[in-house]
Amino acid sequence: MALLNNIQDIRDQFPALGQKVNGKDLVYFDNGATAQKPLCVTGRLNEMNSGINGNIHRAVHDLSAKCTMLYEGARETVRAFINAESTDEVIFTSGTTASVNLVANSFTASFISKGDAVIICEADHHSNIVPWQMACERAGAELRILPVDDNGCWRMDELDKILDRKVKIVSVAHISNVLGIVNPVEELVKKAHAAGAVVLLDGAQGIVHSSVDVQKLNCDFYAFSGHKIYGPTGTGILYGKRSILERMGPWMGGGDMVETVTLQKTTYAPLPLRFEAGTPNFIGAAALGDALQFVSSLDKEFVHNHEERLTDLLMNGLRNIEGLKIYGDAPEKIPLASFTIDGVHHADLAMLLDKMGVAVRSGMMCCEPLMSRFGVTGMVRVSLTVYNTEEEIDILLKSLSRAVNMLRQ
Ligand code: PMP
Repeated sequence: MALLNNIQDIRDQFPALGQKVNGKDLVYFDNGATAQKPLCVTGRLNEMNSGINGNIHRAVHDLSAKCTMLYEGARETVRAFINAESTDEVIFTSGTTASVNLVANSFTASFISKGDAVIICEADHHSNIVPWQMACERAGAELRILPVDDNGCWRMDELDKILDRKVKIVSVAHISNVLGIVNPVEELVKKAHAAGAVVLLDGAQGIVHSSVDVQKLNCDFYAFSGHKIYGPTGTGILYGKRSILERMGPWMGGGDMVETVTLQKTTYAPLPLRFEAGTPNFIGAAALGDALQFVSSLDKEFVHNHEERLTDLLMNGLRNIEGLKIYGDAPEKIPLASFTIDGVHHADLAMLLDKMGVAVRSGMMCCEPLMSRFGVTGMVRVSLTVYNTEEEIDILLKSLSRAVNMLRQ
C-alpha cells in the first residue's frame, strides 16, 4: 500500500468529515473521545454485516471459516502493530474499560490478597480507577495513589515512597486523556519491576499517539480501545505477557473459552481464547485490523510534522485569549489542549462552539479526581488528529473568540 502523505488524500478516507452540523461544515476536535472511521473500516463492517457473516471458530461451513480467518488475521495485525511476541498475548475485548476490568478481576483473583497493594494515579481515567477500587475492596487490598504535580506530571519522588513489596500491580495511563502528557512509563516499569510489581498501561490515548512496542516498553499489560484509533466501537485489546496470562484464571465463563465441560467441572482453553468467552465482536475485530493497517499506511514523518504544525498554531492561538489557562505543561505532549477560561463555563462554551459547527469535549472527561486536583468543575478539550487542518484551527480560534465575547457580555 502506498504511504498516505498529504492531507487531502487522508481526509478523502473519512466520509464523516464532509458532513454539516448545525448548518456549518463540521470541524471535529473531539478525537480524544472517539475518532472518525476510514473507508477501509466502514467497508469491512458493511461487507461482513451484509454477507461475510458466520460465527467464528465453531462451524465447518465457508462463512464461518472466512470470519475465523478475518478475526485471527486481525489478531496477527494487532500483534505486529504493538510488537507482541505472540498472538497468544493478544486478547480481543470490547475496549479499554473491558481490558482493565479483565485484569482487575483475573489478575487480582490469582495474585492479590489481603494486605497487598495496588497503585493507580490521580490523573487517571475513571476506567482505571473504579475497577481497581472494586478489586481492592474484594481482595482486602490497599489502593495507593500516585499524585501529580501542578503541571500534571507524575510525582516520581512520591512513587518511590509508595512502591514497596506489598504492591502487586501498578496500573496507570500511558498518555493522559485530559492533559495529553506522555508519562515516563519506561522509568515507571523499571521501578515497578525492581519492587516486584507488574505494570498495566492504559493505552487508550497512547496507542493513537505513540509507536507502541510492548516488548520495548516491557509493560506486563497494555490496554486500548479500537474506536479511538479509527476502528469500530465495541472493540479493544488487552495485551498481556504470556508468562502472566498463563497463570491467570478466566474472568468470564461461556462458550469458546473451554477445553472440556462436564456438569461438575470445566477445563479452560489455552491462550488467548481462555479470556474470550462467548461470541466476540468478530466483525468489529476484523475491522480493527483494517484500522491498524490504515494507521500503518500513514507516512510517519508527514503525521509528525503535520500534527506539530497544528499544535503550534493551536497553542499560540489559545495563549492569545485573555483569561485562558491550559492544563498540563510537560516536555512531551500529544496534540491536545484542555483549558478553562475565566468567567466562562466550559459547557456553555462547548455548546456555542457546537452551534458554529465545532465539536469539542467539555466537562470532567471521566477524570473527576483530576478536576478536583486542579480545583475546577470541568474543562474544554480540543484534541486533534491526523485529518485535522490548519483552516480548522483557524475556524476554532475565531469561533472561540466569538463565543467568549458572547458569554462575557
Ligand atoms: N482511558 C483513557 C486514558 C481514555 O482516554 C479512555 C476513553 N476516554 C478510556 C480509558 C476508556 O476507554 P473506553 O471508553 O473506550 O473503554
